[in-house]
Amino acid sequence: MTLLQIDAVHKRYGEHNALRGLTLDVAQGEIVCLLGASGSGKTTLLRLVAGLERVDSGSIKLGGAVVDAPGKPSLPPEKRHLGMVFQDYALWPNLTVLENVTLPLRVREGRGADGKARRMLERVGLGGYEERRPHELSGGQQQRVALARALAVHPRLLLCDEPLSSLDAGLREELRELIGSVVREHGLSALTITHDRREALALADRVGVIQGGRLLQLDAPRELWRHPNCEAVAQFTDAFGPWPVELKSGRLHAPWGACELGSRAENLSSGKAHLYLRAPALRRYDPARQADWPARARVLGSIVTGDGVELRCDLHGVTLSLPVDEPLPAGIELTLAVDPAQSLLYPPETREEINSP
Ligand code: ADP
Ligand code: MG
Repeated sequence: MTLLQIDAVHKRYGEHNALRGLTLDVAQGEIVCLLGASGSGKTTLLRLVAGLERVDSGSIKLGGAVVDAPGKPSLPPEKRHLGMVFQDYALWPNLTVLENVTLPLRVREGRGADGKARRMLERVGLGGYEERRPHELSGGQQQRVALARALAVHPRLLLCDEPLSSLDAGLREELRELIGSVVREHGLSALTITHDRREALALADRVGVIQGGRLLQLDAPRELWRHPNCEAVAQFTDAFGPWPVELKSGRLHAPWGACELGSRAENLSSGKAHLYLRAPALRRYDPARQADWPARARVLGSIVTGDGVELRCDLHGVTLSLPVDEPLPAGIELTLAVDPAQSLLYPPETREEINSP
């Protein structure tokens, strides 16, 4: 069942088009995560869903009922039954942890509010912290309180606006898992926003990429990863590129040489294109493998990470970052093998001006 339906929504701030005909749905029990650069319209979208702003055109439905459309009364935020978690926690500083979670529950639960709030605090790992005040907690703990507060009311939809971006890496991962598991065990739905693609891929059933107020693609993480539907999505999901290439008679001509495309060429039209590659399509060249497509790259440096070595190298103007076993000295050349079957190819578009009306 579709829980949230956003249909061709347009939102302007003065001359600026923050959202431009955005369509998106969230099913019951689904976690949808939106990725997009700063200023792409993510927060605007959440504020519209929450009822904090009005649409200029298009409509928003919750549970099949229109909650916002031009010419119709907007359903006020408190009647939408949503939970919200923001980047800056937004806790009430003068209330204790328990009071922060209990307050929104009181109206509906009366006396039962206290027990329910305690159970939710326990669930997010804050049992024993009930009487503290927000300033006596770390950032991660404050965000757990915000999460408990949002979930205690059993919202039909949880809205999260970059809930993890103020936290450091380890905590981020821990809290991301907590959000995912709590949302799923309560059978809730969530629309969450991040600019961290790893976070999106790990948390969501479907991931959407927003650019310039438009939704470019909305798909399961694996699908988005394997088949980005345009260059912007390929770039946003960290594919390497673009390299200018040409498709001619079933062969792909790249700056480092040409190769046969085999059966893949059947679905592709000839002409100029932009090529993108993901890390698994690139490895060290092995002359024993006939099918390898060799490409000379120049080593820029090696970074020793916890789990191994990340090699940075330049392949015809594009910086690659690849996992390797041993660091290599900067300045040397190495031959990589490119797997043409994994190439992502796009017709060179005239890039759209993001803020054109
Ligand atoms: P994101 O959350 O993706 O960073 P926002 O939705 O906050 O982006 O903003 C989208 C665009 O709309 C930005 O260019 C921002 O400056 C503009 N914008 C957002 N809110 C307002 C507002 N209240 N008044 C004017 N412009 C706004
Ligand atoms: Mg924002």
